Formats: sequence, structure tokens, C-alpha cells
Amino acid sequence: MDTFMTIRAYGDNVDEALKSAEEKIKYLESIFSVTIDESDIYKINNSHGSTVEIFPETAEILGEAVKMCEKTDGALDITLYPVLSAWGFTADEFRVPASSEIAGLLEYVDYSEVSVDGQSVTVPEGFQLDFGAIAKGYTSDEIADDLRENGVKSAVINLGGNIRTLGKKPDGSLWKIAVRDPFDTSNDLCVLETGEISVVTSGNYERYFEGDDGQRYWHILDPSDGFPADSGLVSVTVIGESGLYCDALSTALFVMGKDKAVEFWRKNQDFDMILVTDLHEIIYTSGIENSFENLTEMSAEVIDSD
Ligand code: AMP
Ligand code: MG
Repeated sequence: MDTFMTIRAYGDNVDEALKSAEEKIKYLESIFSVTIDESDIYKINNSHGSTVEIFPETAEILGEAVKMCEKTDGALDITLYPVLSAWGFTADEFRVPASSEIAGLLEYVDYSEVSVDGQSVTVPEGFQLDFGAIAKGYTSDEIADDLRENGVKSAVINLGGNIRTLGKKPDGSLWKIAVRDPFDTSNDLCVLETGEISVVTSGNYERYFEGDDGQRYWHILDPSDGFPADSGLVSVTVIGESGLYCDALSTALFVMGKDKAVEFWRKNQDFDMILVTDLHEIIYTSGIENSFENLTEMSAEVIDSD
């Protein structure tokens, strides 16, 4: 998954539990990776329209992913891979594609064309999938379950900034989770005090390049035009029970921008969020009002449910 991962677990049997977690991560990587030849995703991406048999975990994440694409009205789109490749985000060979090239590739972007039937999946010729926006969240949930099954009651899983906690701290107190300041990533934006939770951030500072025109191009693209999502947000943090849900939403809400993200939150209200705009404003939802502490000079506004 192209990132550093840290798991800290407390209790009896942790060595075995951590070994099992590591194996699980390697297994999931081996079936989800876009680059590993024998992975499920590789097979789908090279299927030329024919049906591919996939592992249960791939079927599960794919089913959930398609639902999240629908729920976010296509702000999340797992078929964006051809466009991501054209920008070079998949191979670190960055370039700014011509608008006509992007327009041509968008013909192959449409999550509703992905058909999953049990453990069989079919995508049209030329379509390619990528779980980059959701794999870490899904993996963090799987690892949390795995650790729990191995008797661990207290753990912090950090998959490249996707945080998932299990239980509370060993002494029964709450975890303190820091969220990065997108304008100064060596500083914290805020610290959240919480029990078992997922905290996932998407930010334009995480992966970007500078074009010859001096402009910054980042890795979260708007599927409606194939260009880096220019929604006025610089980071989105989603806090909720499921890592997959939070990961899918952090990416999708980044694409939507502040107004649509707030509208989406008011409609669903099964998560909390912290938005940071390019005008240096923080907007966060009322569910975390008591655990949110602003550590920056930016203004912070709480959003209520009505
Ligand atoms: P995240 O860091 O979770 O926001 O995921 C970003 C990654 O997801 C990118 O590096 C791309 O691989 C992929 N991606 C970018 N934009 C989208 C999008 N709108 N829908 C789905 N995946 C995307
Ligand atoms: Mg995400």
C-alpha cells in the first residue's frame, strides 16, 4: 500500500497477534495491489471485458466500494485508475495530461459499469480499478478484527495516517489522536480524545507535484473532469466507527468541497468531520465538540445538525 504502517498492541499474546496482523496485511496487499501480477485487481484490470473470479475479501471491499461510489454520487469513483495513470500518480512519473487526453480516458470511468456477482466481477474493456482511496481503511478494520480475535483488547493501528483504535488505552483512559495541520505538517491541527474509533485524513499535501506552470497538482482527482479536485479544501478528516467508511468519505468529501460535505454530513450524521479550507478556516461537526481542541491560529467553526 506504499506507506509506513505501525501497530501498537497491549496485553497477553501480542507477539502472536501482531504476527497474524502482519500476515493479514501482506495477504490483502497481494490481492489488492494494482502492480502485483497475480493480484485480483491486476486480473480485473487486464481482463478485457471478461469475467474474473476473485477472493472473498476482494468481493467484500469491492461491494462496499461500489456502494460508497453511489452514496457519494460519484465523488468517489474506483474506476478512476486510467486517469490517475495519465497524471503519473500511479508510477511517480508526474505530468500534466492534455485536456483531450483526459476527456478520452473519462470514457473508461464509471463505477456503475462494475458488475459484482458473488465472487465474480466483470468490467468493460479498458476499465481499470484502484482501491487507493479505501484499501487502508478496509485493512485497518480487518486488522482490528484480527487483533480482537487474538485476544488483544487495546491497540492503535496506524496505516500511513489512517488511524484505527481498538478499545481504550490499557489504563482505561481515552486515546489522544493528533490530526496534522495541512499548512504545516510538522504541527498538529488538533488533538482528539476518543475511545474505539477510526480517524482518516485526506489532504492535498500528501501527494502532489509542481507542473512547469508552477501550479501544484495533487493526487485526489474530481471524477467529473479528471483534474485535481479544486474544491477549496486542503484537508478532510473523517471520524467514525468503520475505517472503510471513513476512508471512502475522506476522499469523497475532499472532492465535494465544504458546502456539499456539510450537506452530506447533515443528511447522514453517522460520522464526524474536520474540514480545513484554503482560506485557513477549520469547520468541524458537533459530535466532536467536546473532544476537539484547536491548536492553530486558524478560526474554527462548529457545524450543527440543522
Ligand atoms: P486518500 O488518501 O484516501 O484520499 O486516497 C487517495 C488515493 O485514491 C489517490 O492516491 C488515488 O489513488 C485515489 N483517488 C484519487 N481521487 C479519487 C477519487 N475521486 N475516487 C477514488 N479514488 C481516488
Ligand atoms: Mg480515502
